[in-house]
Amino acid sequence: METLVEIADFEDWRTAVDAAVKVLRAGEVVALPTETVYGLAADAFNEEAVAKIFEVKERPSFDPLIVHLGQKRDLKKVAAVPEELADLVKKLISEFWPGPLTLVLPKTDAVPDIVTSGLPTVAVRMSKHEVMRGAAKELGNPIAAPSANIFGRISPTSASAVMSELGGRIPLIVDGGACADGLESTIVAVGMDGGKPVLWMLRPGPVTREDLRKFARVAKPKSSGDQPEAPGRMEGHYAPRTPLLLFDKPEDFVPEEGKSYALLSLRGEEKDGYVGKHEWAVTEVMSPGSGKVSEVGVRLFHLLRKLDESGVDAIVAEPVGKARLGAAVMDRLQKAAAGSGSAGG
Ligand code: AMP
Ligand code: MG
Repeated sequence: METLVEIADFEDWRTAVDAAVKVLRAGEVVALPTETVYGLAADAFNEEAVAKIFEVKERPSFDPLIVHLGQKRDLKKVAAVPEELADLVKKLISEFWPGPLTLVLPKTDAVPDIVTSGLPTVAVRMSKHEVMRGAAKELGNPIAAPSANIFGRISPTSASAVMSELGGRIPLIVDGGACADGLESTIVAVGMDGGKPVLWMLRPGPVTREDLRKFARVAKPKSSGDQPEAPGRMEGHYAPRTPLLLFDKPEDFVPEEGKSYALLSLRGEEKDGYVGKHEWAVTEVMSPGSGKVSEVGVRLFHLLRKLDESGVDAIVAEPVGKARLGAAVMDRLQKAAAGSGSAGG
């Protein structure tokens, strides 16, 4: 299959949105930009189209998809918000949508089981990117869209990254530029615990625990019992093919004789302990500015991809602080380290 690229006009998104909707109406899949990472989109109410997402991505059927809305009022099409949570959900939506916050809520019958992997809940958000949001609005149905990469691999944050992942497998990629956040959305399950609303943090992301705490208690679900889980979030996600090494402290890194290493540095500064530790074959800096973690988010997957292609034997990543967005960055680095060095998890 030939993969066409439609370059979006940043002043007028209509042509790109129309091209995407044409493919969606035909029951096909299309890669679309969002503010987090590129998504592989299908009409969420068309089971056969959704099945193509799983096929193209080689994604296991137990890993449910996020659905994207074109407008806030479409939430009721996919989610049946329990009365005791209605107030909290309303506040979260008004604060964070459109934006990178995914809510897990009880689903309606309209959402096919293939979308939610048979779960009684649905993960839903509304993207800030005009192309994803505009396409859902024009289509009139929500759009199911996981990241546009082969399952387990590094999420794509540019159209060219999608092309190297899925080129030849899908009919169209809409190029809407580099992703502004660069990390997948935050996922919280909205529920009740001890008679009070709670946000179960299923995946850290651009909307941080600190942001959410103003609205409700934020808790990490225990993997046992009746607390919600995020299927598919296994170790080994986001993995480069090259081994990725993550140490508690720079002294723990002991290079092997004859092997070449790349450094994924936070600021590229000697004082952080890694830069001068070894003669790195390649060094990439996640935050060349001031070590701002938002900059790390934008560049992380792009640089991982670049270093993966650099031909070194292993990549050493400097850890970042876990406050705010740092929690999401460390989550991705730890999972990537656990699954690296193979074809993916
Ligand atoms: P991706 O679309 O690749 O960013 O991944 C979507 C992730 O959302 C899945 O891997 C799950 O971890 C999570 N997810 C989707 N739907 C649900 C749900 N109904 N309950 C819990 N987690 C979900
Ligand atoms: Mg993914």
